[in-house]
Amino acid sequence: MPVLVMKFGGTSVATLDRIRRAAKRVGVEVAKGYDVIVIVSAMSGKTNELVGWVNETSPMYDAREYDAVVSSGENVTAGLMALTLQEMDVPARSWQGWQVPVKTTSAHSSARIEDIPPANIMTKFGEGMRVAVVAGFQGVSPEGRITTLGRGGSDTTAVAFAAAFDAERCDIYTDVDGVYTTDPRVSAKARKLDKIAFEEMLELASLGAKVLQTRSVELAMRYKVKLRVLSSFEEQSDEAGTLVCAEEEIMESNVVSGIAFSRDEAKMTLVSVADRPGIAAAIFTALSEGGVNVDMIVQNISEEGRTDMTWSCPVDQIKRAEAAIDAAKKSGELNFDDLIADTDVAKVSVVGIGMRSHTGVAAKMFQVLSNEGVNIKVITTSEIKISVLIDRKYMELAVQALHDAFELDKAA
Ligand code: ADP
Ligand code: ASP
Ligand code: MG
Repeated sequence: MPVLVMKFGGTSVATLDRIRRAAKRVGVEVAKGYDVIVIVSAMSGKTNELVGWVNETSPMYDAREYDAVVSSGENVTAGLMALTLQEMDVPARSWQGWQVPVKTTSAHSSARIEDIPPANIMTKFGEGMRVAVVAGFQGVSPEGRITTLGRGGSDTTAVAFAAAFDAERCDIYTDVDGVYTTDPRVSAKARKLDKIAFEEMLELASLGAKVLQTRSVELAMRYKVKLRVLSSFEEQSDEAGTLVCAEEEIMESNVVSGIAFSRDEAKMTLVSVADRPGIAAAIFTALSEGGVNVDMIVQNISEEGRTDMTWSCPVDQIKRAEAAIDAAKKSGELNFDDLIADTDVAKVSVVGIGMRSHTGVAAKMFQVLSNEGVNIKVITTSEIKISVLIDRKYMELAVQALHDAFELDKAA
């Protein structure tokens, strides 16, 4: 029988009632003849609560125990979903990651899926089970420890199962009815897209649109998974939601197709470092070895052989960055006057594959921000995106103004 993957996010399984509603959706697909793999998140708020408990117990926690704790929310919803389906006379059972097994790397709290052998679940399908309910977000390391895939990781579990089981489709049920031109919670004018190209979705996700975890889009692109985002709260047709697909499947699109933003940014500046070959290497090697994910980088014009180096990184990595730079100073690799951290910044990005063939997007973006009196602190670009770092208090304003200026409320 054809296999379908259906993933339900936190808000879609937040109460027993909602689990019943989701189970009914699963029942509809079973009745159509699919064997279904259901991937569930923890009830909304649960993972945050578990993370909070870990931090309170042990601020410098052992990442293996962090994973043991924070993966547990999904175990509860997987069992409850299987019970709900059984109550509806749908043959179902739950699976935790290690039982499948979902084999991952041992990078605790941000592990990558390496392999999902389908044999165990396929055997059960062969014996008449119709639904395998799998706890999302978790796997097992080569050492036999429980791992998690990073926040939002159930999306990745879902796509990885779709690839491993050659599923007909991977449906991501969430609390919005598809992928929008920007987060509908920030702009009332955000427009739902019927289709979005993998590459655009990849950029939007990595630039902060949390509707899909970045890694899930990468996997869908690599394994050509038919990926759809849709609402678990509305009646659905086969055309509902947003299809994430190959560029060739989209006839018309705007030059800019979406705007993403991220609040969790910080800007750090190393004041007055020597401007000589090897200095950037020394700074960014220290940061990388300290586990800091550097995003944007700018180097100022040099004066009298000294320069300032600025970068952005996630705001919760500032302490690590300071420690890494401090260590490099103590070891004599770096010499500078000061290290300044600005934590009140946000990143706003415009994304669109149309930028490959259209000029003027950057000019227009900067003009719009200037008209709103928003100062740009750092800029980065790639072939299909332009990102700026601005004061956080202007983030919503910038998103809305850019959405208007690029007329994203209107279809191409
Ligand atoms: P789930 O718990 O189902 O995984 P998430 O909260 O992780 O749901 O992701 C859905 C949320 O993503 C939406 O509620 C919305 O606020 C946010 N979001 C951000 N950018 C977008 C976008 N471009 N389109 C749709 N939703 C977006
Ligand atoms: N429950 C996990 C989280 O909140 C994984 C997920 O929902 O995708 O990050
Ligand atoms: Mg999510």
